[in-house]
Amino acid sequence: MARNTDTPDNPKVEGLGPPADFPFPFPAYDIQKDFMRNLFQSLEGEKLGIFESPTGTGKSLSLICGALTWLRDHNTHYKAELQRKIEEGSAAVDDNDPDWFSAATKRIEEQGEVRKYREELLALQKQEERVKALKERRQVIKRSRIKKIDDDFDELFRDLHQVSEEVRRELSAIGGVEPMSAEESEWLLDDYHSDDEGESKYSKDKEEEEEDKGCLKIYFCSRTHSQLSQFVREVQKTVFGEDTRVVSLASRQNLCINEAVSKLHNVSLINDRCLELQKGKKGQATKCESDGSVSKKKKSSAGCPYYKQTAVDGLADQLLLEVQDIEQMVGLGRKTKGCPYYASRYAVKDAQLVVLPYNTLLHKGTREACQIRLKGNIVIVDEAHNLLETIANIHSVYISHGQLSGARAQLSQYLVRYSKRLSPKNLLYIKQIHFFINALMKLLSGGTQSIGAMSNNSNKGPSADSQSSSSRMLTVPLFLAETLTDNLNIFKLIQYIEQSKIAHKLHSFSQKFEGSVKVHQVQKQSSSTSSFLAKMASQKNNNSPKENQQPKTPETPKTEKPVKQEEEEEEEVVMGSPLMQITEFLRALLQASEDGRIIVTVGSTARKSSLKYLLLNPASHFHDIVKECRSVIVAGGTMRPVSEFRNQLFLSAGATPERIHEFSCGHVVPGEQIMPIALNEGPTNVTLDFTYQHRKDPKILDELGRVLANICNVVPGGLVCFLPSYEYEQYIYNHFTSTGIISRLSAKKKIFREPKKSSQLDTVLNEYAKTVRLSITNTTGITGSLLFSVVGGKMSEGINFSDNLGRCVIMVGLPYPNTHSPELKEKMQYLNKNVAPGPDGRPAGSVFYENLCFKAVNQSIGRAIRHRNDYASILLLDHRYSRPSSVQALPEWISKHLRMCPKFGQAFGLVRKFFADKKTTAT
Ligand code: SF4
Repeated sequence: MARNTDTPDNPKVEGLGPPADFPFPFPAYDIQKDFMRNLFQSLEGEKLGIFESPTGTGKSLSLICGALTWLRDHNTHYKAELQRKIEEGSAAVDDNDPDWFSAATKRIEEQGEVRKYREELLALQKQEERVKALKERRQVIKRSRIKKIDDDFDELFRDLHQVSEEVRRELSAIGGVEPMSAEESEWLLDDYHSDDEGESKYSKDKEEEEEDKGCLKIYFCSRTHSQLSQFVREVQKTVFGEDTRVVSLASRQNLCINEAVSKLHNVSLINDRCLELQKGKKGQATKCESDGSVSKKKKSSAGCPYYKQTAVDGLADQLLLEVQDIEQMVGLGRKTKGCPYYASRYAVKDAQLVVLPYNTLLHKGTREACQIRLKGNIVIVDEAHNLLETIANIHSVYISHGQLSGARAQLSQYLVRYSKRLSPKNLLYIKQIHFFINALMKLLSGGTQSIGAMSNNSNKGPSADSQSSSSRMLTVPLFLAETLTDNLNIFKLIQYIEQSKIAHKLHSFSQKFEGSVKVHQVQKQSSSTSSFLAKMASQKNNNSPKENQQPKTPETPKTEKPVKQEEEEEEEVVMGSPLMQITEFLRALLQASEDGRIIVTVGSTARKSSLKYLLLNPASHFHDIVKECRSVIVAGGTMRPVSEFRNQLFLSAGATPERIHEFSCGHVVPGEQIMPIALNEGPTNVTLDFTYQHRKDPKILDELGRVLANICNVVPGGLVCFLPSYEYEQYIYNHFTSTGIISRLSAKKKIFREPKKSSQLDTVLNEYAKTVRLSITNTTGITGSLLFSVVGGKMSEGINFSDNLGRCVIMVGLPYPNTHSPELKEKMQYLNKNVAPGPDGRPAGSVFYENLCFKAVNQSIGRAIRHRNDYASILLLDHRYSRPSSVQALPEWISKHLRMCPKFGQAFGLVRKFFADKKTTAT
């Protein structure tokens, strides 16, 4: 039951119990009711919840209806309770108490309490009035006024800037310094007077923010914009779609409607250009022609045509009044000629449900820039099964040698052009940045003396390029000492970079002189572990209610937009300005030294050399969220092992064990609709041992071929066979081709292989689906498709192989990550030292290693069962799957039905009967 509703900054009132019924769009299953009740209680009881609900169980709808019911009931109850407390407090004056002193003290205390209640109630009423006014007038006057003042100020500033530039030019001419064009003078750094200026402004902003905390909010975040849009569309389907104030936050890349800017594609470039336009300092504004082409208006002081006060405010109001997903926001923005990016940010304060991507919530800087106020509010993280890895990835910073040399070249060019005009303070800081970059480049060229690397690993793992690179792991203090940068005041340097906006100016400057300053845009490279983790950072599709009603006819496997989206989002790491990436690296150096390491990779050529700050303790970036939020819910299709979230996320972030609440529900799919089998041996009694040492043994590969050929004979429709890597998939395919196994398989199934290029994905999937569809009626003997896919590849996440598209999923071997990866080793060592051992006494590092493997397995095998009426068999091929620890690591809805088959005959019989029964039921 709920305990109380006091939040860190709100007065205490009595708790609230869950309602008997939740407003679900269709009759809810018991597991959904359970989910919503537990969620309600967790939010009311200010818990940190770990919620598990398998894909296909309507998790999104349960989250929406559970959380928004709580929000609605809580707001009503909280207001009523405040009113009651005020009345009680005002009446409770005991004048008959003989002890006048204690009576007076008590009265003062009570008056204080009552005042607190009154203030809180007043704040709520004000909030309601604001929303009411918003509804009536569709305009927030106050914000307009502030915005108007801002605009006037900007205008004034522009004039002043112009005057000062003219004076500067005249003085330069007198002093013999070559005069600059107006455009060039825009890139000149303003004089940098005080190191504390920004701080006071920041504190002022904070104070203002404290004054108006807005209404109680639920921040809902997921991994990709597409998942968020899908979530918003689910909200629209519920009764809460009518009157809940929902705002989606997204990047400019997703929301910018100025085609001249959005066509830049790179998120950094879009951000830079947008900011430049707003300042109007470029002296040019875009002009959209009737044919959609965009031209520049010469010498105009206007910024982006969509950044107009009335249009943006109007759109902000509209966003609060109607639930809109990202595409709809963009459409509305185009219609009203208001920028959806800024409109959504203005609307946040009055929103009840803010929908935002991981990065915006999990990165403190981004969070603050978006004015996300955690205190007393709710955070729900969906698709959280890889949350720890995601936090680590967001805060790990990679810099290539190319980025360093690009930044150095830009700075050098800049100094050549502007040094005579820069103030001494500017020069001092620029030289410090230059020094820092030089020191890093020297380290990458092996020019500094190693004074104590923690580990010195030539990457000799199976997939590493052992001849071309060697990696070393350094702690931050060692790194600073080795690069001789330990005397730099990194904090002040970052402050300078931020306040002077040197990264933006340098970027604009270098764009102008593109010919002479060539900066390679380097795509983020990640080492084996992080790419493994990134690949595993999965997304499971939440079923729509319709999927709970009728199985669909075969269709193209659903390539959920996230797949493409995700790639795009990962590619966003390409930085327009290399100095920005270096600034991120500097920021990382300020973190607690035990929480991170620097990986120095020296390649055979400079281009292959890089630095990476590796975050080892993701909880350090979750601490504020746990501390400040009223309640935090992490939810996912499979949250196994729950201990990872409990120990490494919540407890490591400072939570108390009593605050953690765990909830796990079964699958809506009945047990008789799945046939999971762990198989030890193939048809000729060869043990299926796909350990690294044996996996290329021709005997084992032949046995695998026999298993597949037999299974293909009895499985109708589509069959997806997952292999641990692209390299191994190629090896198997070559072996099957040379031994004729492919021909055998082709007699029953048309063979498809996962393409390495995303651009080929749709073609392969379409052909795969077409074959499955035609196989129902054709007479060629082909009964469907067989797809060789790769764990953590393009098919193992974001694609639904529902119904006939995936009647069987086969997992070959256990996809353990490369143990030779220095990152993985360091992470395991960190866990062994800082996190309690697993329940069976195994060191935390080993538990983590095992978990990486099983998260990937679970992600892949979850592709087939997608809704209540779906059915599929799951074959786990490797004798290691029969170990109790392996069984435990599988999702409960699979493990409790798992059949252990030491012999193939037994497994084959089960699969054959399973599909024969389904055929009978269907006819
Ligand atoms: S103000 Fe909005 S529309 Fe204009 S450039 Fe910036 S993000 Fe794009």
